[in-house]
Amino acid sequence: MTGVFDIVATEGFEQVVYCHDTATGLKAIVAIHSTALGPALGGTRFYPYASEDDALVDVCRLAQGMTYKHSVCGNDLGGGKAVIIGDPVALRSEALLRAYGRFVEGLSGRYLTAEDVGTTQADMDLIRRETAHVTGVSESLGGSGDPSPATAWGVLWAMKAVAERLWGTPSLADRHVCISGVGKVGGALAGHLADEGAKLTVADVRQDAIDDMVDSFGAVPVAPEAAHTVACDIFSPCALGAVLNASTIPELRCDAVVGSANNQLASLADAERLRHRGVVYAPDFVANAGGVINIAEEPHGYDRARAYDRIRSIHDTLLRVFDRAEADGITTAAAADRLAEERISSVSHTRLIRTGR
Ligand code: NAD
Repeated sequence: MTGVFDIVATEGFEQVVYCHDTATGLKAIVAIHSTALGPALGGTRFYPYASEDDALVDVCRLAQGMTYKHSVCGNDLGGGKAVIIGDPVALRSEALLRAYGRFVEGLSGRYLTAEDVGTTQADMDLIRRETAHVTGVSESLGGSGDPSPATAWGVLWAMKAVAERLWGTPSLADRHVCISGVGKVGGALAGHLADEGAKLTVADVRQDAIDDMVDSFGAVPVAPEAAHTVACDIFSPCALGAVLNASTIPELRCDAVVGSANNQLASLADAERLRHRGVVYAPDFVANAGGVINIAEEPHGYDRARAYDRIRSIHDTLLRVFDRAEADGITTAAAADRLAEERISSVSHTRLIRTGR
């Protein structure tokens, strides 16, 4: 079994907190990877992990990912994540969520929570009754609501950066985009692309989602297992992770991959495979940062226009990533990591300057 301190020491975590409440059956782990740039913000995943070890490994991996995501997109936030162990359908109760909220409150703002797989906005509203350190609450409580439209807006601006780099113009008019997964993010993205005059091919395992895209935007359907093989300008994975791997990459017939799905690369070697094939890859945590940029606006008093303006900065961030990859002769994924690490290091340095407080 992996010891907590093994992970904490190797990956430089600040804090891993175990929370337990017998009465409600709450078992949660909060991992704070870094607060160098600000309080750690990341969602709470409610999932029936096979073992505590699995939960620990997952929460740490996700928290570290958030550090990089916040850093590269310019948020003054650190990386954190939480998991509640168990089946949300069987375990979810007002008392369990409020107990969890009290543990989050006990971290005094070092960790801000949000919605993730297995948790809902209604859950965040319950947690809000015990702590102010929660984002993604209902709009009526001052929150920013569902982050998916913001994420889709960010993916659109990532595509515009790719278009500018590849074709010399941010316009997506007449470009052919194949979206795999037209759920909350992919569906909203399809709407933006249709407004831009792009040609759409869509794949989903849900027939109703496909029908909606065909009726609304004249999209052409393709089978989910064939989506990555469609000859197009941009392939956009907006469903599952690990879609870019040793077997799919040789079959790609696109110039670029820009999507919202998390962990699109099955392994780091796949970033190199894409580079060798000459496919431009927009690193997932840069392209899909619209949701966290949106949520980062909540603690300042949420303003949608201001948030959406900031989300457009994903365009400039991605161009910086491309420049850096070219200059250093590395993959775009490695360049994004490098930019994130450099920002953490340089901004942390400024904290050494005394302000008088
Ligand atoms: P969603 O569940 O609303 O949509 C996913 C869609 O993919 C569904 O319509 C589902 O039927 C479809 N799908 C499932 N398996 C598929 C397959 N094999 N091939 C094609 N389609 C398939 O989820 P979402 O919120 O739109 O998120 C999509 C992706 O983006 C996820 O990977 C998520 O982690 C990531 N992401 C989402 C956000 C956000 O704000 N929602 C933010 C960052 C990253």
